[in-house]
Amino acid sequence: MGLPSHQKAAVTEHPGTDNWHAVIKDIPVPVPKDDEILVKINWSGLCHTDVHLMKGDWGKSGLSMKVKVSGHEGAGIVVAVGKNVKRFKVGDRAGIKWVADTCGDCYFCTNGTDELHCPHQLNSGFTAEGTFQQYVTTSGKYASKIPDGVSDEEAGPIMCGGVTAYTALKRSAVRPGQWVVLPGAGGGLGHLAIQYAKAMGMRVIAIDGGKDKEEMCTKLGAEHYIDFMVEKDIPSRIMEITTYGAHGVVVTAASKTVYDQAPYMCRPRGTVVCVGLPKEKFNAGAPPMTMVLKNLNVVGSVTGTRRDVDEAFEFTARGLVKPILVRGSLKDINDYAEKMLVGELPGRAVLKIAD
Ligand code: NAD
Ligand code: ZN
Ligand code: ZN
Repeated sequence: MGLPSHQKAAVTEHPGTDNWHAVIKDIPVPVPKDDEILVKINWSGLCHTDVHLMKGDWGKSGLSMKVKVSGHEGAGIVVAVGKNVKRFKVGDRAGIKWVADTCGDCYFCTNGTDELHCPHQLNSGFTAEGTFQQYVTTSGKYASKIPDGVSDEEAGPIMCGGVTAYTALKRSAVRPGQWVVLPGAGGGLGHLAIQYAKAMGMRVIAIDGGKDKEEMCTKLGAEHYIDFMVEKDIPSRIMEITTYGAHGVVVTAASKTVYDQAPYMCRPRGTVVCVGLPKEKFNAGAPPMTMVLKNLNVVGSVTGTRRDVDEAFEFTARGLVKPILVRGSLKDINDYAEKMLVGELPGRAVLKIAD
């Protein structure tokens, strides 16, 4: 019904090699199966996870791209629905996440909290074709509804960056009035984490590099900014500010150095939340003596459930969290990825996909 047969997509050439790059190609528009919807993608965020996957950073951990098209922060409009789909109709707005679908039936899907651990899940831009293309088929059950008050360009980055930051802050168990440290605060996840943390009543210490990021982090409400390229002893600086250390550290920087330092930024009973995923393989945590004497928690946090996404949307609809966007289009993927890799992309890059 008026849908084109072909579309533009950013196809990853030579994934997993130093030669990787995204090339815009004409590929067929997919047809939704009975339980799927076809979404015309309006905007898609560019997450550092897309770059890790295209570059092949996690190959040694057994995670290599299985599809041609990256992207997992998609927002757009439903243009076709499979015959079993009741939740969406043509014309509704829909968001596509890292978890594109789950089985709905396994232990993790049915225990109420752990759908993200479904062993049969599909992941956008990894095991399911991603959102750097104009038309994507996706689960009519698992796609998110985008509420009024959240634009498509904002919804995209919330689908992964926002919800991951929000869920990780909940995992930190930091309470209102307590200190949270955010290494990577000037990036996609980090700049959203500052805003959720503020809205949740936390006191924020931002860590990132450079003056531009300092200005952004401070504007967004960080009480302190530490420049990791300038400050030699970050844990001592945190102690100076907080007296006993922070109640939580949410690591969104993909850096071994940060993971090494994070336990020493915490006060007793503090929590390190692992979120950023460096290329190198090493263990996050601390020596048993530090773990024991500090009663330390070191936990991981992976993106967020459908419910977490809906909650994250509410913060934006209420005007409390506003993604800072660097806007571009499919042709900018390679350039933005390069900028991200050298830490010169403040906030989130978001790509206009639909014509
Ligand atoms: P990003 O590149 O936008 O942000 C990372 C930030 O870290 C940058 O601003 C960079 O300057 C900063 N940084 C680098 N080294 C630092 C250091 N030593 N100290 C302080 N800051 C430093 O990336 P992003 O899209 O926000 O993603 C961040 C990481 O989180 C990636 O590894 C990504 O794969 C991962 N991620 C994890 C999940 C999850 O579910 N756990 C979800 C999304 C992304
Ligand atoms: Zn992501
Ligand atoms: Zn399942």
